[in-house]
Amino acid sequence: MTLPQCAKCPGKFCYLGVRDLKVLPSFCPMRNYPEKIREIVKRYKEEEVRRIYPLSTMIERDAYNWREARKGTAPRVPVRPRIREVAEFCKALGVKRVGIAFCIGLSDEAARVTEILEKHGLEVCSVLCKCGAIDKEELGVPAEYKIGDPGKPEVGCNPILQAELLNAAGTEVNIIVGLCVGHDMLFTRFSKALVTTLIVKDRFTGHNPVISLYTRYHRNLVLPSEKGG
Ligand code: SF4
Repeated sequence: MTLPQCAKCPGKFCYLGVRDLKVLPSFCPMRNYPEKIREIVKRYKEEEVRRIYPLSTMIERDAYNWREARKGTAPRVPVRPRIREVAEFCKALGVKRVGIAFCIGLSDEAARVTEILEKHGLEVCSVLCKCGAIDKEELGVPAEYKIGDPGKPEVGCNPILQAELLNAAGTEVNIIVGLCVGHDMLFTRFSKALVTTLIVKDRFTGHNPVISLYTRYHRNLVLPSEKGG
């Protein structure tokens, strides 16, 4: 397989609607997988996709001042933060009950998210990562992987329980608020409801990982360390 490498594409030609093989780079999926692309278009006719995709595209449009921009009376600018987009998307989908899977370190944020979503008329269930109060070793983690004293109990995050409790509550959309790397993957894997991430955990940057891509002060922190630290 020729691996797709869109992040290295110099022209992002697809964005411009350009399919000319003379300009597409060698790794371009439009050059290498035209049949796959035609096949995938058909998937957008599937019932579940039709329920979600057009509405999500409408929410994308509504994140801009598109009316004024179309009329040419204002430049196109964003007008909604993501939390509002999540709320509007849930309402547009006709969702009544949503779930929040959150981290202990973002308890305050989870309470704020709950309050906002409730003001939008949504019923909100939430499950903390430490729910169950199970020691990490009982969850199959070697004692030396504990953050504190390996000889002492340390409650582990429990993303499968978070997912299953929200599954049992019948939530229709689940929202991740700061789950750890890997725990978020397990939660997503076991959640029956659609999952969106509102906040990614990044302890170092105040949950704003994009900062590390820009500041030169993080350059040595983001690259692999020779000592593996
Ligand atoms: S699909 Fe092709 S043109 Fe578009 S970003 Fe990827 S490599 Fe570039």
